[in-house]
Amino acid sequence: MVVETVMSSFSRAFGRDPESVASAPGRVNLIGEHLDYNGGRSLPIGLPVRTYVAVAPRTDGRLVLVSEQSPDRMEVAVDAPDVGGWAAYVVGVVQALGLAGTGYDVLVDGRVPLGAGLSSSAALECAAGLAVADAAGATPSREELVAAAVRAENDYVGAPTGALDQTSVVFARAGHALVVDPAGGSHRLVPWEPEGQLLVIDTRAEHSHAGGEYADRRRTCDAAAAELGVTRLATAGADAVERLLDPVVRRRVRHVVTEEVRVGQALDAVEARDWQGFGRLMTASHASLRDDYEVSCRELDVAVEAALDAGALGARMTGGGFGGSAIALVPAGLGDTVRDAVTAAFADAGLAEPGFLDGTASDGAVVEVGRS
Ligand code: ADP
Ligand code: MG
Repeated sequence: MVVETVMSSFSRAFGRDPESVASAPGRVNLIGEHLDYNGGRSLPIGLPVRTYVAVAPRTDGRLVLVSEQSPDRMEVAVDAPDVGGWAAYVVGVVQALGLAGTGYDVLVDGRVPLGAGLSSSAALECAAGLAVADAAGATPSREELVAAAVRAENDYVGAPTGALDQTSVVFARAGHALVVDPAGGSHRLVPWEPEGQLLVIDTRAEHSHAGGEYADRRRTCDAAAAELGVTRLATAGADAVERLLDPVVRRRVRHVVTEEVRVGQALDAVEARDWQGFGRLMTASHASLRDDYEVSCRELDVAVEAALDAGALGARMTGGGFGGSAIALVPAGLGDTVRDAVTAAFADAGLAEPGFLDGTASDGAVVEVGRS
């Protein structure tokens, strides 16, 4: 249904049919936050909301881009070096895959909320990469797709992020969570079908200083790892914290090492189908991010507290922090109660109305309509 809508939008925009349509999901991380750059594990899932990209090749070396979420139609040379705005995500992945060819018409319809910490950027890169590859008759591996999407984000957009978002968006699977372990660049799937519902709460809070704070936390952790003489700070152990003298550095590192322990306990809880236990670990992760790593914000704290008060088994901020989204593990039958409680708490706190999304674990990037 959505695919037909996207194909009609393409036809309206370009006066012909697309040759390929691909989609990729948004993602949330269940637990294991701010660990990817510290050599620790994360547990992301794909979301039901997806970004769709429809493509047909051109013959004049131009890339013409339309997004249902943006008013402007962009046109650039497909091999242009410096492209600004949202076009950079698409130009970047096309060039990184070596598929500039003779250009393309591209239509984007992103159902992943933009800038909500649900990785609309990785969904856009990965869906665009897959659709363009299909239209060009190329078959990059999923690893190559991830690498090209990361290059688009790092080198073309200029966001210094790791590969976690793109790995999640490409390798996610319905009914599963991914265990991403940056140590060996490896990932594996574990069954994730909790009782009740995972609710995603989009706080609609955008904090402009998120980039600077992220860089600051990375610097602090790199320096602490050097001081301790370890390459993977996440596995340095609780004793390591005691060896650090600076109180702020100690708190940052305490988050990192305790979060890695929580990921291990969370995996045990998933295997034992102990949802109460999993919920408690989520809430402990939030407290650690709020008090030790100091990357939460008022909106995230209000969302987490209201969800817990209304009966959620656990709740936490997810993603980098300073805005974005929270998740709550909600027992069956309590979904509406928790939503209403969070909405009311935001109103009481004088905050803009939050958004809610279903957090059922969903499939990664796929070609929806292909040439073959
Ligand atoms: P997040 O990935 O958490 O949503 P980012 O800031 O990393 O936040 O990425 C959001 C940016 O990605 C947007 O500002 C826009 O430039 C681009 N983007 C994502 N989806 C779309 C879309 N459907 N149409 C146009 N641009 C998009
Ligand atoms: Mg992003």
